[in-house]
Amino acid sequence: MQITQTSVLRLERDHASAQFFDATAREVLLLKRCSDCRRWSAPEVVNCPQCGSASLQWRESEGVGVVASWAVIRPKPGTGTPLPVCIVELSEGPWLRGQLRIEDLASIHTGMKVRTQFDAADDGESIPVFVPLT
Ligand SMILES: [Zn+2]
Repeated sequence: MQITQTSVLRLERDHASAQFFDATAREVLLLKRCSDCRRWSAPEVVNCPQCGSASLQWRESEGVGVVASWAVIRPKPGTGTPLPVCIVELSEGPWLRGQLRIEDLASIHTGMKVRTQFDAADDGESIPVFVPLT
């Protein structure tokens, strides 16, 4: 099945996300890392979920992980194409949600290795999406 996936959710930066989107524009995925206990956290985290510290620093992710969960959003017949979405457990530990760019929907499975790509729509911010790791 050939899939044309053009619908990317438009996001706009704010003060808290500016550094994250500056990095995605360079095709770099940033996560937060606790300066006290060294735990990695998702980009939106404000305080370390392990020790409570507010001393979190942006750090570059390898951008690879495995699909922890997934679903295919199916539009009303004749109105669009199926849209695979997933939750990825990154190699550093945090989980991220995003679109899964894959042509063969039947091949999607939990534990599938993926890597990050970046996509922007309608002059919006570049956001991470996931593709199978080959
Ligand atoms: Zn911590």
